[in-house]
This record gives sequence, structure tokens and C-alpha cells, in this order.
Amino acid sequence: MTNPLDTAIAQFESAAQRLNLDPGLRQVLATCKRELATSFPVQMDDGSIKVFTGYRVQHNLARGPAKGGIRYHPSVSLDEMRALAMWMTWKSAVVNIPYGGAKGGVIVDPKSLSQTELENLTRRYATEISIIIGDNQDIPAPDMGTDERVMAWIMDTISMHRGYTVVGAVTGKPVSVGGTLGRKEATGRGILYLIQELAGDHGISLDGATVAIQGFGNVGGVAATLLAGEGARIVGLSDTSGCLYNGKGLDVQTLWRRKREGASLSDLGGGDCLDGAELLSLQVDFLVPAALEGQITAQTARHMRAKFVIEGANGPTTPEGDAVLAEKGVVVLPDILANAGGVIVSYFEWVQDLQFFFWEEDQVRERLQRVITRAYREVCARAQKENVSLREAALLLAVSRVEEATRVRGIYP
Ligand code: GLU
Repeated sequence: MTNPLDTAIAQFESAAQRLNLDPGLRQVLATCKRELATSFPVQMDDGSIKVFTGYRVQHNLARGPAKGGIRYHPSVSLDEMRALAMWMTWKSAVVNIPYGGAKGGVIVDPKSLSQTELENLTRRYATEISIIIGDNQDIPAPDMGTDERVMAWIMDTISMHRGYTVVGAVTGKPVSVGGTLGRKEATGRGILYLIQELAGDHGISLDGATVAIQGFGNVGGVAATLLAGEGARIVGLSDTSGCLYNGKGLDVQTLWRRKREGASLSDLGGGDCLDGAELLSLQVDFLVPAALEGQITAQTARHMRAKFVIEGANGPTTPEGDAVLAEKGVVVLPDILANAGGVIVSYFEWVQDLQFFFWEEDQVRERLQRVITRAYREVCARAQKENVSLREAALLLAVSRVEEATRVRGIYP
């Protein structure tokens, strides 16, 4: 398995090299500013005590408070948190919202816990990291294995400690406690807007275009439904249970409803069951990896037949995988842009929370489309100007913005 931090550092170093960054600043930006590791006890339903390990890592705060999700997954590690925190810094910078980057996580399979155990774990983890999070310091959000219920518990825990309600301490909350309309679907909707731009630029009609999506969670599931709504044919979908394929197009609405009711793709019909790995090699117009890091390696990339890759996941492609895709002429819309819809609408949620003034859903959608499309245009222009890939262009834009903020603030003391 590739270490995601190696991928993140390699991407950064390549941008730093091209930008000819000062060696000192280069060191600053390659390192995470603050890292909290914690092991804490949780009382389980049978009365026993279990110790869990979690992290909260802040990469860079030059452009604003730290921002990033919290992941509950058995593969969580400190290096993974560092990589994901760094990607959050670049993501916020490339779409030009005033945040630094952070990420947190607990090493746990949330499906193995009861509702009470999940709440106990969340409240204790939130308490452990409460010394570095808050509405003006570091604002968590959902990521793999966490959802709006978990965010409500974190918001409540922070509020109990402060003695008053702090809605802006977390985003991705339920609408009833200061969440925003349109946050839940935001990452998937951002992917739709970007695919519409890409399709337009390359003269492809979305109506009838073929799509394969790896990961059928909040990102992949929403992207699939929205794309199908625009007439795209979703021919392949996968989750941890396996992969479904139907050349005529899968009935995404039904599958997504059943998935949210708790079913796995392998239990559901409507297509042929393939091996999960086969999804990446399907011949499609658009391939959306929306699961874990490190999926597109040199080896998997060699078998890929998609024209466009839209990175719904964070870090799905290794630098070696990237090189193979570039050689094959595959256009890759990089993660820090492609999945930024989530953090953009998190920003809208936070702004609404700080002002106690809430927007209509169409305002959220319209502003999301404006922000993500503008970033896409800026990235395309940079790619053209410097004759580099969209990933390199996105990183050049992001790293130069963060470098500038870090440099103009100066080194304290
Ligand atoms: N976890 C999401 C991401 O990786 C959202 C982060 C946020 O909204 O702060 O972009």
C-alpha cells in the first residue's frame, strides 16, 4: 500500500520546484504545523472499556482557521491525517476560501459500534481535541465514516464545555442545529458542475455519456444520482462489497435509496457483479474514484480506459499512476478541485452560523456553482499558460496563494 503522505509531499515538491520557492518557506509548507495524537477510553455496551486512538492535524493556518473533516476508519494513521490536512490547505486555497487545512480521524470501524458506543466515542474524541478546535480555530466536518449525526454530537460537546451553543464549531451539521441547506449533497453537486464544464469544453454531451463511480457513499452516491438526472448513463458502481455493471445504465435512484436503507451493492440486482477492482478499467467517458486514497497506481492506470478521471476522493492517484494516465492522454481533474464542493458549502454554513442568518437552498447552489466554476477556469488557464496538467496547475495556484499568505505575514517573532 502506498503511503498517502508520500503522494502529498511528491505533489507539493513538484509545485515548489516549478514555483522556485524559497527553501525555508518550502520547508514550512511541507510540514504540518500542529499534530495532536490521543488515546482515550470508551465504555462499551457490555460494560467493558476499550481504548481508541485518534488524531487532529493542522497543516497551515496562514489563510485562515483550519478546516477539514473527521474520518472514522480502520486504516486511519498519522501520516494519512498529515496528507489529508495538507490537501485541505491546497483545496481551500485553490477555490479561494479563507481557510487553512486540517484533518482528524479515529482508528475504528464505525459499523462495529452500537449507536451509544459511537456517541460515547465521538464525545470523548471531541473532548480530547477540544483544546485545538473551535469556530475560529479549527472547524471539523464529516468525512468517511462520519455524518451529520456525528457532527451534531461534536457541536453539542464543544457547546457543553463552553456553556453556550457554538454552532460554528463544526460544519456538515443537521439543518435543525445550524447546518445549511445543500451541504449533504455538496461534494457530489460540485462534481456535477465540474463534469458539465469539462463536457462543454471537450464537446461531449452529458446526455448519454458513460460514467463509472468507485465508492457509493455520500460523494459517489450523490454524484451518481445527479449525473443520472442529467441523462448520463451510470454503467458501473462499486462499494466495499463489490461492483455492479450494466452497459445499458444502472437504476441509480433505486440503488441509492436501498444503499441508504443499509443494503450493500452486492445484495442488489440490476447489473452483473464484477470484482471491485474491475470498475477502474471500465471503458467509460468519466471515471469518478470516490473512495480511499491510492487506488490509481501505475498498475491499475495501465488497464484504465476512461477518457476523464474526476477525483471525488482525496488522493486517489499515486504520482506513478498519474504519470501513466498522462502518457495515455487521460484528463485528470484533481481532488483538490474536483471534491471541493463539500468544503465550499461548509464555508457557506460557517458564514451563516457566524451571522445567524440562513440562506435559501438555491442561493447555496448558485454560489457553489460560481465558486467551483471560477476555480476550474483559473486552473484551466494556468494549465494552458504553463503547459502543465490540471493537477500541477491546481497545485501551482494553491501553493502560490498559501506561500504568499505565509510570506506576507512574516515569521514570528
Ligand atoms: N471531508 C471533506 C473533504 O475532504 C469536507 C471537509 C470540510 O467540509 O471541512 O473535503
